[in-house]
Amino acid sequence: MLVDSFGRMATDLRVSLTDRCNLRCTYCMPPEGLDWLPKPELLTADEIIRLVGIGVERLGITEVRFTGGEPLLRRELVEIVTATAAFGPRPQISLTTNGIGLARLAGPLAEAGLDRVNVSLDTLDAATFVRLSHRDRLPDVLAGLAAADRVGLRPVKVNTVLMRGVNEDEAVPLLRYCLDKGYELRFIEQMPLDAQHGWQRENMITADEILGRLNGAFELTEDDPGERGSAPAELFLVDGGPQRVGVIGSVTRPFCGACDRVRITADGQVRNCLFATEESDLRAALRGGATDDDLAERWMAAVRGKKAGHGIDDPAFLQPARPMSAIGG
Ligand code: SAM
Repeated sequence: MLVDSFGRMATDLRVSLTDRCNLRCTYCMPPEGLDWLPKPELLTADEIIRLVGIGVERLGITEVRFTGGEPLLRRELVEIVTATAAFGPRPQISLTTNGIGLARLAGPLAEAGLDRVNVSLDTLDAATFVRLSHRDRLPDVLAGLAAADRVGLRPVKVNTVLMRGVNEDEAVPLLRYCLDKGYELRFIEQMPLDAQHGWQRENMITADEILGRLNGAFELTEDDPGERGSAPAELFLVDGGPQRVGVIGSVTRPFCGACDRVRITADGQVRNCLFATEESDLRAALRGGATDDDLAERWMAAVRGKKAGHGIDDPAFLQPARPMSAIGG
């Protein structure tokens, strides 16, 4: 099992399939994009499938989330999901995506065994979408969401990052939209993971501010906190429920004590925390002929060294060298 020195067990695996993205969200990367990983450095589909299999069949992984970069850009995505669904015990399989291309791929992904999706949507305004992501693709995202819902990739969850002076006034309209469509909205505090290192605490819209804005328009009551477990989102019933909204206060309300996540980057590095400054190279081991036992051993050692918390509030905090897009959010 993947247990750290504080007794936390990693059961939720986030696998980044590519560091490339077709949007340029300002909280993630600069408008010109980044130097993408050269193809030979990316894990192949077979390598990804092998590692996922080791995680599920030997190391107690029960949930696999594919992410990126933009995972829909990975040509072998359907093949990778199909192979993941064949491992036993069958893990829950989900995808974090910006939704571009999901209108076409939702059906094949559901057939392959994908259980649900998280779609990122920060605005309902086309001009703000362009300002925020440097691409004019809002209709594609909304079509992707609708397709996911239609083929049953439910609950369809929506991730929103609010930014001061950009989309901070959209908390209420976004929640109304999601309630109307039957999607479950989660607001995420902006974290210091942008490639430009432009994050500033005073510009972050905090969980308290988000709740303040929502409370003006809806009646929010805390959903059974005993049920939260390792989930990053604090959940609230909206107007008595059953529909809910979540707030992920990664910075101001950290949940590291209950963290059950471990990540593999698109180039095969194990990261035991989003904010880790050290990684363990499974790709070199894979390509050097390591056995499944060797790989499992390295992976366990990587998790054992996980720190107690992300330390954003620590004066000695250092932003990781990898931006979010190259880690896998
Ligand atoms: N491209 C996919 C997408 O847009 O969902 C998957 C990768 S993206 C890095 C995953 C999630 O991380 C998105 O919901 C995005 O909004 C979020 N994200 C990216 N940078 C962030 C930051 N600096 N702070 C908080 N969330 C961030």
